[in-house]
Amino acid sequence: MSDQPKDDNITCSFCGRTAHEVSSMVAGPEVYICDRCIHDASGIVRNDLRSYGNESERPKRHRRQMPPHKIKEALDAYVIGQDDAKKALSVAVYNHYKRIESSDYSYDYDDVELEKSNILLLGPTGTGKTLLARTLARVLDVPFSISDATALTEAGYVGEDVESILSSLLNAADFNVEQAEQGIIYIDEIDKVARKADNASITRDVSGEGVQQALLKILEGTTAGVPPKGGRKHPEQSLVNVNTQNILFICGGAFQGLPELVAQRMSRGTMGFTAKHKQKVDKRDPALLRYAEPSDLLQFGLIPELVGRLPLMATLDPLDDSALKTILTEPRNALVKQYQKLLAMDGIRLQVDDEALDAIVERARARGTGARGLRAVMEEVMLDIMFEVHQHGDISTCRITASVVQEGRPPLFEKRKASA
Ligand code: ADP
Repeated sequence: MSDQPKDDNITCSFCGRTAHEVSSMVAGPEVYICDRCIHDASGIVRNDLRSYGNESERPKRHRRQMPPHKIKEALDAYVIGQDDAKKALSVAVYNHYKRIESSDYSYDYDDVELEKSNILLLGPTGTGKTLLARTLARVLDVPFSISDATALTEAGYVGEDVESILSSLLNAADFNVEQAEQGIIYIDEIDKVARKADNASITRDVSGEGVQQALLKILEGTTAGVPPKGGRKHPEQSLVNVNTQNILFICGGAFQGLPELVAQRMSRGTMGFTAKHKQKVDKRDPALLRYAEPSDLLQFGLIPELVGRLPLMATLDPLDDSALKTILTEPRNALVKQYQKLLAMDGIRLQVDDEALDAIVERARARGTGARGLRAVMEEVMLDIMFEVHQHGDISTCRITASVVQEGRPPLFEKRKASA
């Protein structure tokens, strides 16, 4: 393709204008196209791409095409159990992106405004709250960031401004504001910014409540001036405007102490609990979280406005031994698979006995940090093995038995047979 000098013998193959009638003429193999036709044609192509989806539109189409049951299926590949939370998240997310779409296009019920519903995940540590949020973003192919509510402070105090949450997302979106504005933000440890007592006038935990107040605005939808590099360490940077209207916020927390509040309310009979049930209730049982209501969250110390902006609650169950064992081997990124891959890169097959998996689960459970303990135990077990494996000559198989996990015995190595 090349630009052609003006010559009346050359005419545009599309509109027939001569080179003198147009500003520029591009030549292909025995064809010519003038700048006007290029302009018109590119308009047509742009319109087509808009209706059928192009690179930048892809995430939107992708999300919209994925109905809730498909989203759940995709989550299943990475997250074990937690079916209720997965269902709630899948539907919420599907509706969230529908809501975004409803503002882009015209539909029936145009006068009905779909309200944003951010999500609150309740569940003990290490049950998959962060993993769910992270996997969701991966499945939907949208930018994702995690922030810790405890690191935040009100403007003017030492710590991170609430806007830093948006800086992280902007970072995750490679500074593409448009993409960031449709991303997902996970705010961890939201329970840690609760007021310390439910009666604000007696004990007022200013920092906690201040952070909740500061979070309100961005959760609801506002245009915030965001320092792209985050924090106050770069005061010279100019701010980027990020609209949080379409950002989905997922807040999570373990809410220790909430089960007691739920049990108290239930035993007052507001749920119509029978005397039989009352006797059975273990007031600290995290499974009670699934009966939590907004009034319990208020009593816990969240301010009413924040509870109002987290209309969707989903609960994650404590993981039992069989779930923990499955987590070791089944998910796409299962820990055992990761170590198997690492050793396979050295030509070594890693085999973990079923009893060894049980032993890992037992040690992890003792830590009381849910599935998080699995990684810690697995790392301990594997450290020595990874260090020593190459000192044993040409190993083909490394087998981890229960005694490796329980007593720190060396694993069973099988040597590669010398080839004839
Ligand atoms: P939290 O509920 O405290 O946010 P995380 O999601 O951070 O817990 O879990 C910590 C780690 O434990 C995850 O990275 C993952 O490896 C594992 N894990 C926790 N829950 C599950 C689960 N339900 N399925 C699979 N892995 C899990």
